[in-house]
Amino acid sequence: MIGKGYFGRYGGAYIPEVLAHAFLELEKAYDAIGHSAAFCERLDALLHNYVGRATPLYFAEELSEAVGGARIYLKREDLAHTGSHKINNAIAQALLAKMMGKTRIIAETGAGQHGVAAATACAILGLDCHIYMGSVDIKRQALNCYRMELLGAEVIPVDNGSATLKDAINEALRDFASNSEDTHYLIGSAIGPHPYPTMVRDFQSVIGREIREQFRSVEGRDPDMLIACVGGGSNAIGMFYPFLDLLSVRKVGVEAGGRGLLPNQHSASICGGREGVLHGAKTMLIQDEQGQIMGTHSVAAGLDYPGVGPEHAFLSRSGMAEYCYVSDEEAVKAFHILSETEGIIPALESAHAVAHAIVAAAAMRDDQAIVVNLSGRGDKDVEQIARMEGRL
Ligand SMILES: *Cc1c(COP(=O)(O)O)cnc(C)c1O
Repeated sequence: MIGKGYFGRYGGAYIPEVLAHAFLELEKAYDAIGHSAAFCERLDALLHNYVGRATPLYFAEELSEAVGGARIYLKREDLAHTGSHKINNAIAQALLAKMMGKTRIIAETGAGQHGVAAATACAILGLDCHIYMGSVDIKRQALNCYRMELLGAEVIPVDNGSATLKDAINEALRDFASNSEDTHYLIGSAIGPHPYPTMVRDFQSVIGREIREQFRSVEGRDPDMLIACVGGGSNAIGMFYPFLDLLSVRKVGVEAGGRGLLPNQHSASICGGREGVLHGAKTMLIQDEQGQIMGTHSVAAGLDYPGVGPEHAFLSRSGMAEYCYVSDEEAVKAFHILSETEGIIPALESAHAVAHAIVAAAAMRDDQAIVVNLSGRGDKDVEQIARMEGRL
C-alpha cells in the first residue's frame, strides 16, 4: 500500500484487507471533522478548561546555573491534567470519535499512563471505554488498573506473546477490525498505520505551537535546541513539528539506552534498531536477524516499546532531527538533579530528556537556550526509585 501516510520511505498502512475500511473511514473523518471549526472550537475549550492549557514555559534558572552554559527552559506538560502530555491526544481522539458517532472506545496501554488518559477522556465525553493491557503489565501496574476502573473503564487482559504493550496493540487492532462500526481505536502514540502517526502528531503539536509563541514573547527569538524523550515519539513530534521549518533550531530526540545497546537491554529503536514493519508501519525496530521483535528494557516504562513513530525514522534519516540515547543510570541521576534544583520531580521518561539537556547545555554558550519537553510528572515513579535505592 504505497501512497498516503508516508514520511519518506517510512510509515504507510501495512494492514490486512479486513482492516482497510476502518482506517479509510478514520482518515476521511479526520480530514473532514478533525479540521472543522466545530471540532477545533470544542477541542480548544476542552484543552483550556479541562486539561489546563496553555502549560507554562518555565525558565529553570537554578538548574541552568548549576549546569552552566546554555539556559534551560522546561515546557511543563507535567502540569497538564492527569500529569502528562498523553491527555492532549486522548481527549482530541475521543472528541473526534464522538463527533463521528462512535460510542465505544478501545485503547492499549503498557505502563497504564495512556490507559488512564483514555479512560479520563472517555469519562468526560461520556464514551464507553475498554483498555487492552498485557497480563504481565497488569501485575506490574495494579494501581493504574484501579485508576482506569475508577474512571469507568474496563481493563481487558492480554495473554498472547510476551503479554506486554506490543501484544495489547495487536489485540486492539484485532478488535478494531471487527467492531469499527461503533468503535474507535484510540492509539496512544504517533505510531501505527496511517492516519495515526499524522493525526497524533497534529494533536500533540499544540506543545510546539505554544513553545514557539511563549519563547518568542520571553526571549524575542527562537530557541537554539529542543530536546524531548522518544518512546513511540508523540511528545517529541508534537514539540518538533511546528519548528521543522526553522532549520536553525536543533531538534534532539532522546531514546531509552537502558543498560546499554546490547540485546534485550534497551528501547532505542533508532539508535539501536533496524528498518522493518511493526503495527502497520515501516519504521525503525528492535528486531533480531529473522525480523522477530526482541525484548526491550528501560527504567522508564513509558519508553519501553520496540518501535518508534515513522516520522522520527524519517527525520533521523533525513538529518532534520538528531537522535541519541541516555542510560537508566543517567536518567535516574537527572531525576534527582531536577528534583533538588528546581523542586520538580520529573517522570522517568522526561528525566531522559533532562539528562541530555544537562550534557548539551554545558557544551553551549550562555547566550544560547534549550527547551526541554518535560512530558510528565514523576509522582508515578517515586515508589519505583525508592525501591531501587533500597529505601522501601
Ligand atoms: C508515555 C510517556 C512518554 C513516551 O511516549 P511518547 O509517545 O514517546 O511521548 C513520555 N513521557 C511520559 C511522561 C509518558 O507518560
